[in-house]
Amino acid sequence: MNASAEEPTLVGMELSELEAMLGPEQPAYRARQLFDALYRKQVANLTEISALPQTLRNELVTKISLGRLIAEQRFDSSDGTRRYLLRLADNRTVEAVLMPEENRDTVCISSQVGCPVDCRFCLTALMGLERNLTAGEIVGQVLFIAAERGLSAASPRMNVVMMGMGEPLLNLDNVLKATRLLTDVAGVGLSPKRITLSTSGIIPAMEEMGKAEVRPKLAISLNASTEEQRRELMPITRKYHLKDLLEACRVYPLRTWEKLTFEYVLLRGVNDTDADARRVVRLLSRLNCKVNLIALNPGPGIKFETPEPERVLSFQEIIKRAVPCFVRQPRGRDIYAACGQLKRSSPELVGIV
Ligand code: SAH
Ligand code: SF4
Repeated sequence: MNASAEEPTLVGMELSELEAMLGPEQPAYRARQLFDALYRKQVANLTEISALPQTLRNELVTKISLGRLIAEQRFDSSDGTRRYLLRLADNRTVEAVLMPEENRDTVCISSQVGCPVDCRFCLTALMGLERNLTAGEIVGQVLFIAAERGLSAASPRMNVVMMGMGEPLLNLDNVLKATRLLTDVAGVGLSPKRITLSTSGIIPAMEEMGKAEVRPKLAISLNASTEEQRRELMPITRKYHLKDLLEACRVYPLRTWEKLTFEYVLLRGVNDTDADARRVVRLLSRLNCKVNLIALNPGPGIKFETPEPERVLSFQEIIKRAVPCFVRQPRGRDIYAACGQLKRSSPELVGIV
């Protein structure tokens, strides 16, 4: 079936939507059976849903697509990271990344095709925004990678980070719907502790997310130590000021087990000095948070440079005195899978770094 992004697919529907789609002539338990097949059993094909009568399966096949995503290309890094180029129903493509580690697998998923936020150091920004992903396309990335990995998406190994292409808080409704579907214990069953969303700081949407009953953990891309510097690097700061962002963080309703994460991309000679680190400490010292440092992952069209490892360590030392601070090791740089490197994969990009 040739569905466009606007045509609903089964993956992405909540129980009430499945009930409505099946219609009043079906008993209510049919929707629950379908929900179970889609999200708990994670069937690859409608015909596999043996709980449903054959006639209903046949009817569904003609009526609606399942909505599983298809890999168009896979790129394997020497460090085990895999980047997938997934084809959507309208023939656009989006990227998802699997980072296997000893005790866990982190799945980095996209929330938009491209991104409208114009961060100066990010390759995705160069694409602009093509469109928002549907909840089904967001959930579909997790189901796809779990199936590839031969794991249940609910396996305690699985961690999901919404840190791929796009600004998730500019697609909040779909992101929250996907989070509900991923965490439903009758379905995929991931713990909300294992889903993290990263934002460039869309303040009103942050406030709205804080009110949602089911929501991912929150990470904020800080990336600068002053209002002016942030405005240069992340022009969105002209609209959403750093001062207001930090205030929104101060009042953000953290759950008992939750801490805010701040991400900070280190750009050589731009925002990586000891004075920057001390300013970051002053900005964050009263927040319940930790900091993840990311040395710039370079790319064509990006005019910044990566700091030396010693500079990254000195920066970390200063932050660590006040706030827990970690250095995020780059994963999959050789296949353009690392943070900020997700762009429509063109073969000529692969293997450049
Ligand atoms: N749009 C969201 C999530 C996707 S970007 C956001 O900006 O938070 C995920 C992370 O990658 C962000 O913390 C961003 O600051 C970082 N990033 C972007 N470009 C990068 C690059 N070239 N090198 C390293 N990190 C980068
Ligand atoms: Fe968009 Fe995030 Fe890249 Fe900024 S860093 S352009 S918000 S994906």
